[in-house]
Amino acid sequence: MRILITNDDGVYSPGIAALAQVAAHFGEVRVVAPDVEMSSAAQSITASRPLTVKRTPLDAIEAYRVNGTPGDCVMIGTTLWDGVNLVLSGINLGSNLGNALWHSGTLAGAKQAALLGLRGIAFSVPAPDNAQPRFEELKPWAKTVLEKLLEAPDLPLVNVNFPAKPPHGIAWTSQSMRYYDGKVVPGKDPMGRTHYWYTVIPVDATEQGTDRWAIEQGYVSLTPLRLDLTDHPKLDTVRKVEAWKKLKFA
Ligand code: MN
Repeated sequence: MRILITNDDGVYSPGIAALAQVAAHFGEVRVVAPDVEMSSAAQSITASRPLTVKRTPLDAIEAYRVNGTPGDCVMIGTTLWDGVNLVLSGINLGSNLGNALWHSGTLAGAKQAALLGLRGIAFSVPAPDNAQPRFEELKPWAKTVLEKLLEAPDLPLVNVNFPAKPPHGIAWTSQSMRYYDGKVVPGKDPMGRTHYWYTVIPVDATEQGTDRWAIEQGYVSLTPLRLDLTDHPKLDTVRKVEAWKKLKFA
């Protein structure tokens, strides 16, 4: 099996090295990742300038850095390396829960794989106050999760979040959509000019069964995702209404 690894924290992040080491138990591994941090780059692709690929081996792992987004890295990685079966993204320094999935560059790496008809799995862990997560403790859990997911080939896209403390189990979850945790905070620069920071506010209340709930409870959260954004129940409703109108006014 050929496994392509990417992230949005950049090729030199300790999280991507940990993920590549775990993935090496399952197949042939290659890293193609952004040369700088691209967190919150979401599904953006670089269409207005050319991209470069530079070899950057990470110890024994074949790795390349690209001056682009996670999405670009997956496109380039799968173009330059034939027969990729699986794309892993992360392990991100910071959770990707709830509404953050709309902004996440980590998830976007996995999503780009799913868009190509491949499997994509995104991994994230909390990194409070920029503290380094204990990747050595997480590696056996990442391996267990991969074993579990590789046994379920009908899941094209899965978002995995580790809890802050060592986990005590794995939970299948839904995306927590009730609260939006983004906020714009004004501040002043050294010249006294107003500027704005887009930041994240802590969400206290969580709903049982969601990704946010699971990691609070100390579980590894596994959320199966889909690419189709269509609201199918709403589509059925509007189609029924249209059909009814045609009947009534025929
Ligand atoms: Mn990131």
